[in-house]
Amino acid sequence: MTTPEHSTPRDRKACERLDAEDPLRSFKDEFILPPDTIYLDGNSLGARTKGAAERAQEVIEDEWGTGLIRSSNTAGWFDLPATLGEKVAGIVGGGAGSTVVTDTTSINLFKAASAALKMQATDAPERRVILTQRENFPSDIYMLQGLAEQLGDDYEVRLVDDEEVTAGFPNTMSDEVALVVLTHVNYRTGRLFEMESTTSAIHAGGAMVIWDLCHSAGALEIDLAGSGADMAIGCTYKFLNGGPGSPAFIWVAEALQNRFTQPLSGWWGHAKPFEMSPDYAPADGIRRYLTGTQGVISMSVAELGLDIAARADMAAVRAKSLALSDLFIDLIEARLSDHPVDIVTPREHEHRGSQVSITHPEGFAIMSALIERGIIGDYREPEVLRFGLTPLYTGFTDVWDTVEALRDILDNHAWDAPQHKVRGAVT
Ligand SMILES: *Cc1c(COP(=O)(O)O)cnc(C)c1O
Repeated sequence: MTTPEHSTPRDRKACERLDAEDPLRSFKDEFILPPDTIYLDGNSLGARTKGAAERAQEVIEDEWGTGLIRSSNTAGWFDLPATLGEKVAGIVGGGAGSTVVTDTTSINLFKAASAALKMQATDAPERRVILTQRENFPSDIYMLQGLAEQLGDDYEVRLVDDEEVTAGFPNTMSDEVALVVLTHVNYRTGRLFEMESTTSAIHAGGAMVIWDLCHSAGALEIDLAGSGADMAIGCTYKFLNGGPGSPAFIWVAEALQNRFTQPLSGWWGHAKPFEMSPDYAPADGIRRYLTGTQGVISMSVAELGLDIAARADMAAVRAKSLALSDLFIDLIEARLSDHPVDIVTPREHEHRGSQVSITHPEGFAIMSALIERGIIGDYREPEVLRFGLTPLYTGFTDVWDTVEALRDILDNHAWDAPQHKVRGAVT
């Protein structure tokens, strides 16, 4: 275990001191949160960036209103996927010319997996199995199932347990496996996979790997190019604070970029889109992973979140994230021990992302009671209360106050009220 010794602050004052000494404390001013709110759901939707409204206004009034179609060139609209892609690449260690921001994570997974399976169909045609985590975010599994169905020809999606991935795939990697799709940090438990050794194990088994970075991009140090990974996808609206529904990214290792095209071969991925040729000729490099016109307002606002993350030292972000989650775990153990609360997030730093998840049989009602008090986390089936820790705007005092509120809600059964039993469409 590499988890270092640390001492848990014993009172709120000690947490205030940690906040005052925090080298990242000034980043909080770059975001706008409502008053009296502790926001611990940045792993679902990041907080609003300070300039977001002004940027949207500028795009609407100046670029759209005055510039009209001229802004495709003069305001750089056409280049936004690549411009933003370079910024994401800087944050996740992708290297230049390797990333575009476009479409959704689900769609980018379809494109990446299609291209990877095409490569394998040439190199190792007998391999027809796609492995992914049983506990992966469901959309990833569904997209792979949809793709396997579309391909026919005995393509099949097989599910594997997280423990087996951590152990290096002793049972499941076989010469049938063409592709492994893994989410770097489990959305529910917060378990983190080691990217480099896992990638090596997959390659040693003859398969390719696509990493989903939805819960790690912007939250920890990633060295995509250095890890030897084949492809990666991820969203910008979680730890990268791009705004609701902001577009996702796709990264492809340089050596693979020109090997195949992806099947959503729209005009934005064409080498010369404005020649309007009836024949598709893919652009050179990562641009061939584009499909069609993108939401310019959303992209422009997302850029603010990327710029903030690009300025933050990811090693400092990771150090603070672990200090916050250590504190959270220690306080839960010290102050909620009378209650049936279990911590499902791994204790070892090398296996922990940037969240703390706990279970309680009344998880949904407890989260509802917390939200009523202005402390926003979320709930995931079954029984999981999830607290995302975004080091750029979450403080040690926030963690202290959250555990104290939880203690009060549990001690006084405040969750046991009719308004906490009603479920909306989105939990
Ligand atoms: C959030 C998340 C998604 C979301 O996909 P969209 O297509 O953007 O809705 C996909 N995969 C994982 C692992 C996620 O955490």
